[in-house]
Amino acid sequence: MLSRIDLRGTALSGLDARGLRNTLPRAEFDVEAALDAVRPICEQVEHGGVEALLELGEKFDGVRPPQLRVPAEVITAALETLDPAVRAALEESIRRARLVHADQRRTEVTTKVSDGGTVTEKWIPVDRVGLYVPGGKAVYPSSVVMNVVPAQLAEVGSIAVASPPQKDNGGYPHPTILAACALLDVDEVYAVGGAQAVAMFAHGARDASGVTVCEPATLVTGPGNIYVAAAKRLLKGLIGIDAEAGPTEIAILADATAQPDLVAADLISQAEHDELAASVLVTDSVELADAVDAALERRVPATKHTERVRIALTGRQSGTVLVDDVSAGLRVVDSYAAEHLEIQTADAASVAAKVRNAGAIFVGDHSPVSLGDYAAGSNHVLPTGGCACHSSGLSVQSFLRGVHVIDYSRDALDVIAETVVTLANSEDLPAHGEAVTARFEARS
Ligand code: NAD
Repeated sequence: MLSRIDLRGTALSGLDARGLRNTLPRAEFDVEAALDAVRPICEQVEHGGVEALLELGEKFDGVRPPQLRVPAEVITAALETLDPAVRAALEESIRRARLVHADQRRTEVTTKVSDGGTVTEKWIPVDRVGLYVPGGKAVYPSSVVMNVVPAQLAEVGSIAVASPPQKDNGGYPHPTILAACALLDVDEVYAVGGAQAVAMFAHGARDASGVTVCEPATLVTGPGNIYVAAAKRLLKGLIGIDAEAGPTEIAILADATAQPDLVAADLISQAEHDELAASVLVTDSVELADAVDAALERRVPATKHTERVRIALTGRQSGTVLVDDVSAGLRVVDSYAAEHLEIQTADAASVAAKVRNAGAIFVGDHSPVSLGDYAAGSNHVLPTGGCACHSSGLSVQSFLRGVHVIDYSRDALDVIAETVVTLANSEDLPAHGEAVTARFEARS
């Protein structure tokens, strides 16, 4: 079922880093092309406010929300009618996410640089964040947890959530998404999806009489489809964004000791997200590759979203890459920089320790990506499309800004004054030096 790329023998050694990256399967995710579709949507929101957002819901989600902001009683009712088993599962997911993310909190550090000279690094949360929770092909209450928990632990003062209106919930976001918001004490939720949600957070939204219904946010985070990613790219600068988190990806580095059925199950689990999802197996064992293919042939027809999974697995973004050994496999997965990387090899922990590029690393047979999607405690909003070689997943840090506070006494400045003057003159910026020496000139 998976197409094969054979990088055994000299095939891999003949490729430089760029060549290798271009050889590997990758989703067609042309954000630049989507920008053309997204630009008029963002302009419509900027100028048309609430009415434009309601119209866009009708156009793209097939339902006009009764109100842009979900009324408090609708959110409360969603929690009251939530299946108790789902409530308990969400509560456990929240508990574990809080455990992990609480350890990410940064403490203020003051460094004494010299006698009387200190630099303090403060961590200040952004004032207001707009969190996007996808709800197109699938709905993601888990993304409420993954966005809200780190934002709350960063002590962001104002948190708003947007998720697409759903036809079968009267034009409001999916009830489990609303219930997850209620469990996390988030009461500002908007029935808005796609690019228009990002634009709403960037520009704010007023109704026809000029009353502000949604205040602009300073930062927008959360995963989404290509339109969400394109809107983030377009509006970056006006707002801050997290990494562009597009269609999901799984790469599995496996050797002959891996269990083919588990490898196949994990490849299918991520293909289930989206026809554009990428599932890539990297292995030095042709026998394993054959056995995984056989397991896929058995499992794909039996899974619920067979068609979506089949399209994703047979698309150009998925495949098996054959390599000579695990260390060649490491070169391949580092070049690919997967959003999710599973290591299913002998001594998986020491292989995992050598990985440099991945959004999150899942070690051994008992740490499937699905665990991280819901309840490992780790964050599932992760960089895709190779961005894991320069960006991190969502964390408490994503919502904080590090600010240096510089506090020098007269004596401490005096000690370093000549250094500043020398460097300023070397850049032909003498006024910089004069701003220092002025402090030591006798006043008339
Ligand atoms: P979504 O909420 O991102 O997108 C739905 C919205 O897309 C709709 O509300 C609509 O407004 C807009 N849209 C649809 N067709 C459009 C068109 N032709 N023109 C303009 N706008 C249009 O939901 P989705 O589509 O299911 O995508 C969710 C994505 O998020 C999946 O690819 C999934 O893999 C990904 N995801 C990623 C992560 C991560 O951390 N990387 C986590 C969860 C989900």
